[in-house]
Amino acid sequence: MEDCVFCKIANKEIPADIIYEDSSVVAFKDIRPSAPVHYLVVPKEHIKSIAHLGTNHHDMVAVIIFVAKTLAEKAGLKGYKLVFNVGREGGQVIDHLHLHLLGGWTRKEDIEALPHPGPLSSY
Ligand code: AMP
Ligand code: ZN
Repeated sequence: MEDCVFCKIANKEIPADIIYEDSSVVAFKDIRPSAPVHYLVVPKEHIKSIAHLGTNHHDMVAVIIFVAKTLAEKAGLKGYKLVFNVGREGGQVIDHLHLHLLGGWTRKEDIEALPHPGPLSSY
């Protein structure tokens, strides 16, 4: 899609630190990392967000989660977060579906400071 930064990265029209690529997915380092390890796993097909998925996208979603899990293993992460931001209200800025892989924290204070949804009873 024209004017989509992640389509441009997938098409090699703009540079990125690509760490994995196959026929349907590309993964690269986030340009403004929020964690010691911060990768984005992105389908090559332009899909706006998780909210725009159809039943034809089941396999693609499984693939990007599996790629994230494999990259986490390769990065030696013992634990990590996988995050989809969905829509502006959900913090999504780039309108091309992407999965954030975040990890690599080692300091106890950093790990304790991570956002946590808390017990179900607080909802
Ligand atoms: P989101 O808020 O879920 O839309 O996240 C978009 C992410 O893309 C942010 O973490 C940005 O730092 C990252 N980002 C934006 N442009 C680029 C780029 N050209 N290369 C790598 N990461 C990018
Ligand atoms: Zn796109």
